[in-house]
Amino acid sequence: MILKSASHPHDGPLNDTEVLRIRNDFPILETQVNGKPLVYLDSGATSQNPLSVMEAEQEYYEQRNSAVHRGAHTLAVEATDVFEDARSTVAAFIGAADNELVWTQNATAGLNLIAYSFGNASVGAVSEAAKKFALAAGDEILVTEMEHHANLIPWQELCRRTGATLRFIPIHDDGTLDMSAAATLITERTKVLAFTHVSNVTGVINPVAELTAMAHAVGALVVLDACQSAPHLPLDVKALNVDFAVFSGHKMLGPTGIGGLYGRAELLDSMPPFLTGGSMITTVTMEEAAYLPAPQRFEAGTQPISQAAALAAACNYLSETGMERIHAWEAELGQRLVKGLEGIEGIRVLGPPSGVPRAGLASFEVAGVHAHDVGQFLDAAGIAVRVGHHCAQPLHRRLGLNSSTRASTYLYNTTGEVDAFLAAVAGVRSYFGVEGAAV
Ligand code: PLP
Repeated sequence: MILKSASHPHDGPLNDTEVLRIRNDFPILETQVNGKPLVYLDSGATSQNPLSVMEAEQEYYEQRNSAVHRGAHTLAVEATDVFEDARSTVAAFIGAADNELVWTQNATAGLNLIAYSFGNASVGAVSEAAKKFALAAGDEILVTEMEHHANLIPWQELCRRTGATLRFIPIHDDGTLDMSAAATLITERTKVLAFTHVSNVTGVINPVAELTAMAHAVGALVVLDACQSAPHLPLDVKALNVDFAVFSGHKMLGPTGIGGLYGRAELLDSMPPFLTGGSMITTVTMEEAAYLPAPQRFEAGTQPISQAAALAAACNYLSETGMERIHAWEAELGQRLVKGLEGIEGIRVLGPPSGVPRAGLASFEVAGVHAHDVGQFLDAAGIAVRVGHHCAQPLHRRLGLNSSTRASTYLYNTTGEVDAFLAAVAGVRSYFGVEGAAV
């Protein structure tokens, strides 16, 4: 395969002309689906890759492929440099120091790492430093009603292991977090507050700094699910003052199989490991082992090296384009989506109405038509959306439905694509013969 280099976008706000230039870097967007040009509105699930990301992975395998951190030979040294340079790039992208970024498989793995580490601190003999992560009956872990299952089930399991209680901050009918309930629920018993930065269903953007300040005031640790924010807006974990944050490479123009866990250095260094084995130890006897500091402490076994190189290329691509510009463009597309959907009879948009800031996505219900049918109808028109509960069953239940259809945008979507999507949605109910039926 011959790969071209990424184009270099210009300054100024993103607009359709600029986006058309950006699209040249994403060959998959040329695809025809069912005889129609692909309209890819499923970046909330997984994003597409620019050529520079594919080039980085290919270059790694063509020129540097080797085991990292243990070889004395030249290729091993070069592979280690690629791997650690990638860590610096991705850490800088989220405002972290190099030793505060742990490679994981994805955001789910990062959240499980934290929860299992805390669980390990809660059972058996652990170091004095690790005891501060221990949980027991009477302690509380607080999440929100809008969490992705990845930021819910690990905490359910941690409570099951330790006897701690899981509580949740409810949402209002418009999908926003009930901050007065949060103020009541965050107490001296709260040990962990884990919440999503941006809802993958409603596009609601949570007030991270405010929640973090409330949690820190009672001594709780804050875990931020940045899966839907790191790809789409400028993220600075230090400015937000969170203790941990997780994200997935495949949602931010990178490859699958890699994600990141940010943790404050002094926390990571005293937490018990989750996975154990090679590459994370200082000394091992037949009876016991001593562990390296972070990040190696949490990186047992052979790591996703080519994926790290490719994720760094993705972060460079995003930085060169400009996260402020990307965020502003997607905010515009998000408003266009919601406003358009609000104008179609029989559609109920989940989350805040148009005019209220939200991420560049919209989930909705079509009265009388199952979300899967909506998805298939749109697919026939070449439009890719996500249908189902989007791994957020409790949120859907709270909003009074089992499933919805979600259109999610990214820096490579045009206003014309949003309009094509809206025009297609306008025809769904008549196609299924439910036009005029009760909404
Ligand atoms: N959290 C949120 C808010 C998400 O949207 C997702 C994926 O959709 C995840 C966590 C889990 O991401 P992954 O499956 O890449 O681990």
